[in-house]
Amino acid sequence: MSAAQIPLAGVIGHPIGHSKSPKLHGHWLATLGISGFYIPMDVRSDDLETVLRSLPKMGFRGVNVTIPHKEQALEIADQVSVLAARIGAANTLTFDTNGVIHADNTDGYGFLANLDAGASNWQTGQGPSVVLGAGGAARAVIAALLDRGVSRIQLANRTRARAEGLKTVFGDCVSILDWDAVDVSLEDASLLVNTTSLGMTGGDALPMTLETLSPDCVVTDLVYTPLETELLKNARSKGCQTVDGLGMLLHQGVPGFERWFGVRPDVTAELRSVVLT
Ligand code: NAP
Repeated sequence: MSAAQIPLAGVIGHPIGHSKSPKLHGHWLATLGISGFYIPMDVRSDDLETVLRSLPKMGFRGVNVTIPHKEQALEIADQVSVLAARIGAANTLTFDTNGVIHADNTDGYGFLANLDAGASNWQTGQGPSVVLGAGGAARAVIAALLDRGVSRIQLANRTRARAEGLKTVFGDCVSILDWDAVDVSLEDASLLVNTTSLGMTGGDALPMTLETLSPDCVVTDLVYTPLETELLKNARSKGCQTVDGLGMLLHQGVPGFERWFGVRPDVTAELRSVVLT
């Protein structure tokens, strides 16, 4: 096999040292016996287009893009999936043989696959889904919930205008809660999702006590460092089913890997422990 035939993929961000994606894809390549490579790449915004246009010529089949490039990648791409356009960000790029860049977003897929795996009954509750946060991850989560048939989403964000912006995008299924009064609005919630960055190790905690939360509410957190955030610990102590955010990271990688390397990989307990080490 010539060097040009070795399939390559990777992840582009700035910085990139923290990314768990190389371990994730590296484990799949090794266990599936594929002689390809998945490479972390630290690229500044000013260089992003030049780099993306060069990668197909070097044998890359595609890349993941992460912070801060998810929006810019969408602008650079030649073709954009309906879902990525709706979310306003891309996390998975695929290059065709002519170097045409196709952009997609698999965060919502990862979110739902993780929730289905961790709390398969999450849709049985009658109450609304409460989403905390209105950044890029919230957009992917809301699009996924709506596509799955969730009819009521209550959205709370520190910066209310950002939440209102999402209501404009996603329509009347979304209503806005006051960030400072979320705790008193959780009584009916059947799903609670933290999409903010609050709760990360070393950072500020979510300011909610979950006082009114029903034990029937399923609670999930996109933050996965620590694996069990204060939100999840608190919810678990109230009897709620909880789902950590690591599985979302693992599942969102599945569609990209399949497109680039031609095999659909599995998310397993072994993969979880490899990525955590
Ligand atoms: P983002 O676009 O920067 O949005 C950040 C969100 O957090 C905004 O809603 C922001 O509110 C809120 N926030 C930040 N600091 C806050 C504070 N001190 N008080 C209250 N709210 C605060 O980021 P993102 O891309 O949506 O990502 C959000 C989180 O999800 C990150 O921790 C990311 O690592 C995680 N994530 C995990 C996965 C996974 O696979 N598990 C996938 C994607 C993202 P304002 O609008 O008021 O600033």
